Amino acid sequence: MKIIVDKKGLLKFIDSIRKKYRLIAPVQKDEGLFFDAVSNTSKIVFDYINPKNTAKEFFFPIKDPILRYDSDSIEEVKKSKENIAIFGIRPCDARALSVMDKVFNWDTKDGLYDNRRKNALLIGFGCNKAGDHCFCTSFGYGPHESKDVDVMVYQLGKDEFMVLGVSKRGVGCVVSGKKASPVHESRRKELEKGIVFKKKMDVDKVYKKLDTVFDSDYWTGASFHCIGCGTCTFLCPSCHCFCMSDERNIRYRIWDSCQFACFTKHTSGHNPRPTQRERYRQRVYHKFSYYKKNFGEHLCVGCGRCTLHCPMKVDIFSIANGTLDINEK
Ligand code: SF4
Ligand code: SF4
Repeated sequence: MKIIVDKKGLLKFIDSIRKKYRLIAPVQKDEGLFFDAVSNTSKIVFDYINPKNTAKEFFFPIKDPILRYDSDSIEEVKKSKENIAIFGIRPCDARALSVMDKVFNWDTKDGLYDNRRKNALLIGFGCNKAGDHCFCTSFGYGPHESKDVDVMVYQLGKDEFMVLGVSKRGVGCVVSGKKASPVHESRRKELEKGIVFKKKMDVDKVYKKLDTVFDSDYWTGASFHCIGCGTCTFLCPSCHCFCMSDERNIRYRIWDSCQFACFTKHTSGHNPRPTQRERYRQRVYHKFSYYKKNFGEHLCVGCGRCTLHCPMKVDIFSIANGTLDINEK
């Protein structure tokens, strides 16, 4: 069911969700726009490209206790019973969660992650403009894609929104309101068509090209400015590398980054990725080659955050796309 509401009606709808779920939504903080818990829906921001952080931290937290132990016992951390609803997730970030589901259910099923995913309600918010670094359409979906969320919201005018139940749970939430007409649907399509993307990559060509350029000198220049800070991986909606850390009888899973020098360092001191050349190349291959080989999908969703927030302005789009111009024998 598709319904049409004004801003007041939309806030009322979000408020009804807030009564059943812990609500997460984009809010303005001193450091920028972030997804965060919201107790007052009037604080929700509606005009943005993407928050700085991503939805992944609510399913795969930056520091997640997984075991408690002492000298003679060990127990798994109990699964959370909390249900969260994320309002305002963009189609790219929602896609990233669906892509990550595959790795968290690969050889071992990750109960903590799966439990959070199962209990969450995703309320997507279609984009009406693209950021300078967005390239989601390169991956065969777009800024109004609704298949990875439970409920989808589109802004059709200053005070007009279309709300659409997508999943069974989502349809159950969108129960009353003025029914959307074909005119509303045409307006939505027009808005989507009018979005201008500055970047588009032929990801299938890049995927094939990467099979031939692993040893190219290209990677030395491409990674030259990268300082290995890991910002790109932490802000990426689909990066999911982690390590373990034990503190006071608790084992935590904590985010790690392939861009850190010690990520692949062996106990012997040997490091198979000794410089940023190998480390940045790994990031590109994981995003545009390896993950697709293993799971049939690219691990990048084209959100553009890594380029936007990289302190050295390293641009993954230009670097991945630039491989198509390598002409080495
Ligand atoms: S690409 Fe940029 S954000 Fe990523 S590790 Fe290198 S310098 Fe940091
Ligand atoms: S690699 Fe960069 S553009 Fe791709 S999903 Fe991650 S942050 Fe977004």
